[in-house]
Amino acid sequence: MTADTVFEKSHPGRRTTYVTSRGAPPAGLDLLPAGALRDSPPMLPELTEGEVVRHYTNLARKNWAVDVGFYPLGSCTMKYNPRLAEQIAAWPEFSAAHPLRPVRAAQGLLRTMYDTERMLSHLCGLARFTLQPAAGAQGELCGMLMVRRYHWERGERRNTVIVPDSAHGTNPATAALAGFKVVICPSSEEGLVDVAALRGLVDDDLAGIMLTNPNTLGLFERDIQEICRVVHDAGGLAYYDGANFNALVGRFRPGDMGFDVVHLNLHKTFGTPHGGGGPGSGPVGVVEKLEPYLPVPLVTKGPEEFELEEDRPQTIGRLNAFAGSALVVLRAYVYLRLLGTDGLREVSGMAVLAANYLKQRLSEAYAPSHPGRCMHEFVLSAERQSDDFGVRALDVAKRLMDFGFHPPTMYFPLTVPEALMIEPTETENLETLDAFAEAMRRIAEEAEHSPELVRAAPHDTPVGRLDEVAAAKDLNVRWKPGSGGTSGDA
Ligand SMILES: *Cc1c(COP(=O)(O)O)cnc(C)c1O
Repeated sequence: MTADTVFEKSHPGRRTTYVTSRGAPPAGLDLLPAGALRDSPPMLPELTEGEVVRHYTNLARKNWAVDVGFYPLGSCTMKYNPRLAEQIAAWPEFSAAHPLRPVRAAQGLLRTMYDTERMLSHLCGLARFTLQPAAGAQGELCGMLMVRRYHWERGERRNTVIVPDSAHGTNPATAALAGFKVVICPSSEEGLVDVAALRGLVDDDLAGIMLTNPNTLGLFERDIQEICRVVHDAGGLAYYDGANFNALVGRFRPGDMGFDVVHLNLHKTFGTPHGGGGPGSGPVGVVEKLEPYLPVPLVTKGPEEFELEEDRPQTIGRLNAFAGSALVVLRAYVYLRLLGTDGLREVSGMAVLAANYLKQRLSEAYAPSHPGRCMHEFVLSAERQSDDFGVRALDVAKRLMDFGFHPPTMYFPLTVPEALMIEPTETENLETLDAFAEAMRRIAEEAEHSPELVRAAPHDTPVGRLDEVAAAKDLNVRWKPGSGGTSGDA
């Protein structure tokens, strides 16, 4: 029954009504022009309150979430975030604050934004942050537009941006969207930026480099100081993609290493759950010489109160209507104040320890992309399982669901065949890591002895193996009368 849509469960006349309708608004209170009004009521499902609650609770129980269990989705940092931040963000003093309320009446919220900006600047060793971008990818765009503006203001037309082949996919996309020509820099055998190759790629058309560190193989780019030097000597700027800062927070300041622009993902590292389509926040920090280009408004501290500074002649402009996702920034503020410097160091320590523990335990059953230590995540290859038994990374991922785990990121980075990218995060206990390692080991065994079982997985989930291409291309989210199945079977 629970697979029925809310429309199929509808019965004419069922209601949940607490407020009696007073009919049409009083005369003179026509809120909408006549042409914008419906002729007939909308086709809404009709259910009692209890039916609605059961319908959505049952749907929600089919979902997987960090609050349900382990979610080792590489590069996404699906960790547990303290409830305290959620509770404070729900205080009506914050959650009911209208973005157009006068600055004088929003001093508390502005203060949390101002202080968060100062703390992030300190953690990254940079002059100033904007809190405006609503996602990591928008932060990248913001950063690269500033890079562009910097060169233009100096009368230079530099068009090339170098992106390592191990970069997160948003990096080359961002550089292209900001109008640059993207040049890919190959990785060395070790999975790091090939510095010799980089030297051969720079010339006086170089606008900058975009570097993810740790890179998408979960490896620390050891040569960053040299990389920044090569780029700076050629007149370029160094952009640091810090979306995965939980690997380094409290131990490493990108500004000290020579980076000019940095973005962070508050919805990965700093207290807001990631995913689910909610608001995010991708603040961007810069060194002093890029400060004039930051987007407006900026939260500043005036002589008497906090202000929203709009009048900045060299700004790249405005990326969003307001100063940023205020409640995501507030969660980061709570998170930072809660953990303090020592707590943040522990975050990165635990993230790296958990990943290395799992990598060590799994390296026998699956081939790691690179030997040795990793940072907060690592990549395994199911190439052996695929070649020998016809069990692909996708099959391993699907089978994991039968063991009660969310699958890792698959087939990314592109440089590793049959890639499984695993990020345990800093918030899992040893029992969970052990249980996951044991499930992965058992699946490797099954791949050898009963490959068809793994290939047909998952067996115990609300829906089985989906045609993912069809599901993405022909999205059936609206039940149509007479279409037979429901969106759940699509
Ligand atoms: C997640 C991620 C991004 C993009 O962040 P969004 O908020 O999803 O736009 C960029 N770079 C890296 C390395 C990431 O892990």
